[in-house]
Amino acid sequence: MDISAAKDKFATLQTLPGDDVRQIMWRFGDRFDLQMLVQSARSVARGPVARLVAEGARNTHEWTEQKALLLGAFDEAGITTAYMDPDQGGYIAGPKNLALALIAFELSWVDGGAATCSLAGNLALAPIHERGTPEQRDTYMRRAVPPSPEEARKIGRGAFGLTEPIPYVGVETGLLGGKVRIFQWENGKEPILQVDKRGRFITNMGFANFVTAAVDSADERIKGSCMIILEESDPGVFDRGVPTRKLVHQLSSTRDPVLSLRVPASRIVGGYTIKDGIIVPRYSHGEIIEAVFRRTRVTVGLMTSAKLLSSIEPVIRYHRSRFRGGENIAPGSPRYELGLQMKEDVLHRLVDVWAAGEAGAALGFEAARLFDELDPLEKKMDQIFAEQKVEGSRAQMKLLSGVQKDALECLALSGQKPESQKEERLKQLQSNTLVQYTLLDSLVNVLCPACKLWNTGHGANMMREAVSLMGGYGITEDCPGFLGHKWMDAQLEATYEGPEAVQRRQLSVTMTNELFLAQYQNWIQEMRQIASSHPGTGACTLASAMRLWRWTLDHLRESTDADGTKLYSSSRQGVTFPLADALCWLLAARSFILDVLELENKGPENPVVAEALPGLLAFMTDLCHVHSARASGEVGRICAELVHGYNRHPAWTQESCNACYQDEELDTIEGLIPGIASAARTYSDVIEPNQAHPTKAGPCVRFEGLDAFVRLRMKLDGCLTGARMAKDRAASSLSRVMIPEALDYPA
Ligand SMILES: Cc1cc2nc3c(=O)[nH]c(=O)nc-3n(C[C@H](O)[C@H](O)[C@H](O)COP(=O)(O)OP(=O)(O)OC[C@H]3O[C@@H](n4cnc5c(N)ncnc54)[C@H](O)[C@@H]3O)c2cc1C
Repeated sequence: MDISAAKDKFATLQTLPGDDVRQIMWRFGDRFDLQMLVQSARSVARGPVARLVAEGARNTHEWTEQKALLLGAFDEAGITTAYMDPDQGGYIAGPKNLALALIAFELSWVDGGAATCSLAGNLALAPIHERGTPEQRDTYMRRAVPPSPEEARKIGRGAFGLTEPIPYVGVETGLLGGKVRIFQWENGKEPILQVDKRGRFITNMGFANFVTAAVDSADERIKGSCMIILEESDPGVFDRGVPTRKLVHQLSSTRDPVLSLRVPASRIVGGYTIKDGIIVPRYSHGEIIEAVFRRTRVTVGLMTSAKLLSSIEPVIRYHRSRFRGGENIAPGSPRYELGLQMKEDVLHRLVDVWAAGEAGAALGFEAARLFDELDPLEKKMDQIFAEQKVEGSRAQMKLLSGVQKDALECLALSGQKPESQKEERLKQLQSNTLVQYTLLDSLVNVLCPACKLWNTGHGANMMREAVSLMGGYGITEDCPGFLGHKWMDAQLEATYEGPEAVQRRQLSVTMTNELFLAQYQNWIQEMRQIASSHPGTGACTLASAMRLWRWTLDHLRESTDADGTKLYSSSRQGVTFPLADALCWLLAARSFILDVLELENKGPENPVVAEALPGLLAFMTDLCHVHSARASGEVGRICAELVHGYNRHPAWTQESCNACYQDEELDTIEGLIPGIASAARTYSDVIEPNQAHPTKAGPCVRFEGLDAFVRLRMKLDGCLTGARMAKDRAASSLSRVMIPEALDYPA
């Protein structure tokens, strides 16, 4: 279906997007298992979870009996088991990143704490799932499956113990205070280890019966660090500690545990070998948390996007009904029917909230799908490493860096026109597991931190906008959709599993990987092509902003500041971090456009979607445009600050400032800007006799070597054409879209 044809018919958005639309956009239309999972998670979210919040269960940070009922609800709905493989008692075969992302999305649509409560159990299992020995996996994954009525066993519920009391682990995960020593090592027997770990802010700690804890060696007979499984029944102290007096996510339990336990060495996650009388864990704690967080952070990012999208309906309802019941306000009158929606600003702001939610969801679900593709490749890679006896992450990285050239060649060939592609070579490269893995790995290494950073950081800001649109109601417990809670909760999502600084730090490295940049370059072409077929999406603006970002990155990597100090370096967070932020805006906007194209392609095949598709597509296209324009504006601002901001300004003298003033006078004379220089009427009033015509670039502006940047920036501004018209149309749709009479979960 052609979007412009749809617009010609003045089709408008009829209802808020339903499940059929989301299944297409987020690519699970052919996954009946996931569709059922969404329904189960939703019934828990909008049932028991919503009731708990409405009853005020969030008013305490204690883990109460009432809150504990949630665990049973998760078990019954299949949420607890969704993480497990069928042979462990689960029911979803294959990778589960998208599945877990959808659960998190549904639960946090109502309450982020409930989502965290469910996800933290998976997080505890994740070190075992990603790096555990087969025995560890079998034991702990099976135990985490709720027992059937015939089974006389207790379910295993876990907590992930990394963060420690100050001054140890926080953002800096290497500063481990938790220690492991050898307690007893009898000849020919398995060593018994003494583990001392204090945690800070550990989720699920109110009820967990095992903890996967990060510890460092305090014994010369143990090498390095590791993660280790601690059980409640192990000899020693398993003190759950004091509850964290948190202000957010109150439907999860968070405490500062004190653990001092004796455990067999077989609890070291991933196992160990003994070399020269020293226990060598197979994986350091750093290697394990890297493998874990790269997946779980995507789900956290999606939690904030769910909040934004969940706010649309309650805000619209509040606005429309704001003046009903007033004197002389009759049904049918604009004030009765539209209420606050008569005011452009509330509509425009809600459009921005909606666009941010869509873009975040698009980015998050794209990342989750990529991890689903990566999972089987990782398994194949493990086989390859084992066959080639490549052990340890350094040796593995060395092998992979040798593949970089092939991967770049693969990208270059696939980017060529079909007639000039070397078909055989391309096929060979595309079917090479190492090439496939390296390419995908370079993408997820960017998309995962980008999603965690942008969805939660910008999401928290936009959640504040949503709250403000509810006026005073927004910051009360009674606010429909629990928007006030969600605003605060979003801040935790920006913090745990590594705050924004951690994501920015990672991005500043991964976004400069040549493999990522080569794919990024292809995406610019992709956006240009989309712009020619779907100009209304803002893809043209986005492509221009993507080029500007790339130019800026290259420039900053080669340049020094006015003092001659290198600009792009790990210690220069003032350079690398904003550039990482800028990239996130671009990635989210790109993912959103791709989702809308998917809807356009697949929507007509679904009878439920097809009927209202023209209006929906027209609206989504406008929303894309609005978001692309906003993203491009951010990128332009950030890049301009970085490119110009590290040049030295000429002395702040009256003379230099006069030069800028003179520029403006000349602009006034030429009629470019309305008069500030009322006294000046002609050039000769401004320019000294015999003085050359000034460049009209005051002394603040140093253009040498920056012509390309200035051109790109100007082009980008020009590309914003029409973006506000798109916003007007989207706003108008918000004032007409049908919504249900009441929210489907309690206030
Ligand atoms: C409710 C809740 C639940 C949690 N659940 C768990 C859990 O289950 N398991 C677990 O292990 N942890 C958990 N955490 C801990 C959480 O992951 C940490 O709080 C988080 O990673 C940040 O560590 P920190 O609080 O020590 O911040 P700090 O390390 O003190 O950092 C504070 C701030 O300083 C700045 N900063 C620090 N280092 C740098 C740097 N290198 N560069 C630039 N800026 C920097 C950043 O702005 C950062 O946000 C939880 C936290 C909360 C609040």
